[in-house]
Amino acid sequence: LMFGKARTCNIVTVPEHEPSEVNIVILGAMGSGKSALTVKFLTKRFISEYDPNLEDTYSSEEVVDQQPVLVKVMDTADQEGPVNSERYLGWANAFIIVYSIDNRSSFEVCQQYLETVSLYSKGLQPEAPVILLGNKVDMERYRQVSKADGAALALRFGCLFFEVSACLDFLSVQHIFHEAVREVRRE
Ligand code: GDP
Ligand code: MG
Repeated sequence: LMFGKARTCNIVTVPEHEPSEVNIVILGAMGSGKSALTVKFLTKRFISEYDPNLEDTYSSEEVVDQQPVLVKVMDTADQEGPVNSERYLGWANAFIIVYSIDNRSSFEVCQQYLETVSLYSKGLQPEAPVILLGNKVDMERYRQVSKADGAALALRFGCLFFEVSACLDFLSVQHIFHEAVREVRRE
């Protein structure tokens, strides 16, 4: 006869790659709509006038694919391209790099950000995902950057690409931020 404690084995399966916090940095030229997109994501509302020099970080409790996550968004306010990038490079789990489809030079600024971020990410395991985002699709009549140009740049840097408008539907804007969370989880 063998005596012994009945052993119960509670196996709790914790998904391996479900970070409870995701830090997202929004980069791009002044006026491309970084703050408008951030505010839209946080409040569902379009704010047309936002202090162009205000840089801040906001938090939002989100549920992405039935999994809760605290999303922190740093809405940056660089005046001319990437400077002092150290303040966000180490902090970020994901990058959203924004240009305005009606402004060619904002698209060129995006390339500088893509280069800065990819130079930093190179050799990091895992690399932080990057989303290239063409904003202001409601300004189609004044478009200066074709969708094909956006897609080609994204392909060159191996990142996701979307076009959106901060002043149109909320769900499309929310989708971008949730995709960033999904990309971080996939790592
Ligand atoms: P930031 O400097 O990148 O933070 O840009 P802002 O969010 O301050 O936006 C710059 C200007 O573009 C403001 O006048 C906004 O009202 C406007 N804006 C932002 N997003 C959109 C958009 O999707 N469509 C249009 N038509 N205007 C936008
Ligand atoms: Mg701003």
